[in-house]
Amino acid sequence: MSSLFPALSDPSAGRRPALRFGERALTYAELASAAGALAGRIGGAMGVPPARAKSRAWGRVAVWATPSLETAVAAVAALSAGVPFVPLNPKSGERELGHILADSAPSLVLAGPGVELPAPVGGLERVDVDVHGSGALPEGETGDEDPALVVYTSGTTGPPKGAVIPRRAVATTLDALADAWQWTGDDVLVHGLPLFHVHGLVLGILGPLRRGGSVRHLGRFSTDGVARELGEGATMLFGVPTMYHRIAEALPADPELAKALAGARLLVSGSAALPVHDHERIAAATGRRVVERYGMTETLMNTSVRVDGEARAGTVGVPLPGVELRLVEEDGSVVAARDGESVGEIQVRGPNLFTEYLNRPDATAAAFTPDGWFRTGDMAVREPDGYVRIVGRKATDLIKSGGYKIGAGEIENALLEHPGVREAAVAGEPDDDLGERIVAWVVPADPAAPPGADELAGHVARRLAPHKRPRVVRYLDALPRNDMGKIMKRALRDA
Ligand code: ATP
Ligand code: MG
Repeated sequence: MSSLFPALSDPSAGRRPALRFGERALTYAELASAAGALAGRIGGAMGVPPARAKSRAWGRVAVWATPSLETAVAAVAALSAGVPFVPLNPKSGERELGHILADSAPSLVLAGPGVELPAPVGGLERVDVDVHGSGALPEGETGDEDPALVVYTSGTTGPPKGAVIPRRAVATTLDALADAWQWTGDDVLVHGLPLFHVHGLVLGILGPLRRGGSVRHLGRFSTDGVARELGEGATMLFGVPTMYHRIAEALPADPELAKALAGARLLVSGSAALPVHDHERIAAATGRRVVERYGMTETLMNTSVRVDGEARAGTVGVPLPGVELRLVEEDGSVVAARDGESVGEIQVRGPNLFTEYLNRPDATAAAFTPDGWFRTGDMAVREPDGYVRIVGRKATDLIKSGGYKIGAGEIENALLEHPGVREAAVAGEPDDDLGERIVAWVVPADPAAPPGADELAGHVARRLAPHKRPRVVRYLDALPRNDMGKIMKRALRDA
């Protein structure tokens, strides 16, 4: 396979900016040099010449994935050396890190100099990442099917599983997005996400580098940072719904932010559903519609809206080039109707798919149909023009109540339209009469005057249908969310 990052070995790209984290930045030539030096040290520490052998035989390296230049250099170095890497979430607790290390068995850990590594990561052999190192990128062959990285799923629905992502999937998903978004080397991305998941790392770092463009990472997301970077020439913003929620809240009092967003070429949201209310508020204040994309660790990116297409609130667009997508009913029949109503599980097939869950042949086998479709566990409908509208996860978001199948998402969207509601999550709970009853967890806009349960039930019944009204409303100060801002419904139910 040709290089994942042609710009790294293109002398004419050498002086172009590649990465910036706060005040620290690297050009393409500097990145190639630092990654080349590190790739040599990885090979030395592992006792193999870089990119000479099949990478499968080499084992893996861990990357202590703080939001930093070091993480980006480590990722590029490992990919250049042909050694698969496992990004570690620095905020993970000892137990989760222990699970990931035992499962993935890395030979060493790459980390920034001076960064303290907690147990059990501190017990690994360590190679410090020098972002000013100087060396040549290794030459040699790596195969399309060789593993590029192993990313652990978020653990939203169970213990994290290590998805083995081949180089082919990284290349094809980034090229499909480039096609859909007309993503080029002139694009400058504003980035405010962590770097241990596919959104922040594969899309947010490897994506711009594959295109020869650049990334400006905010370190920590802030609406001021977004306004500043877009105001200073950045062209794209990739974020999760919690970021767009904060943007929507800040917009009325921040004309600079509105101006900056209006000038951006592309605003993209992914990793969870973007509430319709936030989408509409941003559109009203800026004239720009946020483009949603739908993907997951195992499949990288499945769908999005083309840059010349319509970004429609509550939908995630159409399958990307090369991705096959179908909706399948519980009895295995394929949903043919594009009526915006017939629900099925999303199954996908294509070059964007992972190879396997590490050490989990059982889970891998269960995840695929006999003819190679990946069962995403997400439920959706298709609109007449093919747009996919995600209803929610089969495990937590599909409520079977009184003979109806009800998606939690539309009820959450309706609740968020109530001025007294800041955040909302909905799930089903066992009910003797209904099978499941609809429960809403609500964070009130004003904790001193929360809207009453009857008021909210009436609000939903008027907007959607009486059987979709929450039967129980529980009030919270905040919803339990993971690092990507995803609502942890398991934790809600346990609370
Ligand atoms: P685990 O698989 O360990 O339970 P997870 O599924 O949350 O965790 P990820 O692979 O990070 O881990 O997340 C992928 C999931 O996120 C998708 O299956 C889908 O449920 C959700 N998702 C991603 N993008 C969107 C979107 N645009 N709209 C709605 N849901 C989305
Ligand atoms: Mg998942």
